[in-house]
Amino acid sequence: MHFGQIPRVPGDPILGLLDAFRADANPAKLDLGVGVYKDAHGQTPIPRAVKLAEQRLVDSEKTKSYIGGHGDAQFGALLMRLVLSPRAVALAEDRAGCTQAPGGTGALRLAGEFIARCLPGRTLWLSDPTWPIHQTLFAAAGVPLQHYPYVGADNRLDRDGLFAALERIPAGDVVLLHACCHNPSGFDLSHDDWLRVLEIVRSRELLPLFDFAYQGFGEGLEEDAWAVRLFAETLPEVLITSSCSKNFGLYRERTGALIVIAAGHEQLLDVRSQLAALARGLWSTPPAHGAAVVTTILADDALRQIWQDEVEGMRQRIASLRQGLVEALTPYGLAERFAHIAEQRGMFSYTGLTAAQVRRLRAEHSVYLVESGRASVAGLDAERLDELARAFASVVD
Ligand code: PMP
Repeated sequence: MHFGQIPRVPGDPILGLLDAFRADANPAKLDLGVGVYKDAHGQTPIPRAVKLAEQRLVDSEKTKSYIGGHGDAQFGALLMRLVLSPRAVALAEDRAGCTQAPGGTGALRLAGEFIARCLPGRTLWLSDPTWPIHQTLFAAAGVPLQHYPYVGADNRLDRDGLFAALERIPAGDVVLLHACCHNPSGFDLSHDDWLRVLEIVRSRELLPLFDFAYQGFGEGLEEDAWAVRLFAETLPEVLITSSCSKNFGLYRERTGALIVIAAGHEQLLDVRSQLAALARGLWSTPPAHGAAVVTTILADDALRQIWQDEVEGMRQRIASLRQGLVEALTPYGLAERFAHIAEQRGMFSYTGLTAAQVRRLRAEHSVYLVESGRASVAGLDAERLDELARAFASVVD
């Protein structure tokens, strides 16, 4: 027997929450756990621009043969323009490159492998808290990890703790920054904060790795790229992972990329040679369909406009749900206490509810959120904000 001694590991707590939600017979149950966007009908829709692009692809695609190790070149060129802007200096100077990967997760794993193999001894610094899969995938790649503070005990952005910790990071280390829509907290940095982080990153000679999973979900497609573009314009070397899962609604098509900015064209080619070799050992060549959809949309003015409007629609819906929840809490005298929910950005909110309160919400109201108090705002139902506010009010002191 070979499998008799395999230890069973616990499942993903967020997916476990989903199982518990599904098993709950209460018709008034509410799922604030899983991180996918839902529309007013509770669906995670396929954007119209994606459907139109797919119809075109069905007619025009001629082969399913492999695409190269870096993926589709046109996808790379278009995605870099979306992320860095068409006017980016690094593009003009031919020192930015794009390696397509299976989703943002694949891009992050590739970045992790690159750091572990090509920058040995460098520690990667993650925000505390961060998306838990960061730990999982960078540890799997063998990258030493440390954390810098991000959210304080008062459930506010811990600016002082953040800056002080960044100042102490050893020169040469890598720092992972959430470009916008911080997951799980929803707390984003202001422009002034970013300028300060840039100064520290530059003076400490750190390598920034941006995780850009929610472009368009915070302030808008262009605005959300502000920090990434600032760093890309100012520093010679930047790593960016971009995900098309949320903003193109392509979750299961596993579409994303690792964008590398190097000091010069030759250094870029050196790095890209390593990335192609590393990707070969991970997934060989990336999946093609999602990237072909993105390429079709971004290359066509009409489709692109439809898509931009759809992203803006998703963004506005999330913003109005945030606002609506705070308004629904007003009759309970809780608007001020939860005002941060409207100020946060992206799919998630650190509500500030304690684990004990979260457990009560679940036991007494069939409202499901993660024990950290993270709520997935993008999954809320606008019709049921009053119900949710009543449940919140009944568990807070
Ligand atoms: N980074 C963050 C912060 C995320 O929240 C996610 C998705 N939940 C990802 C990366 C990866 O997304 P995907 O692999 O689905 O593109």
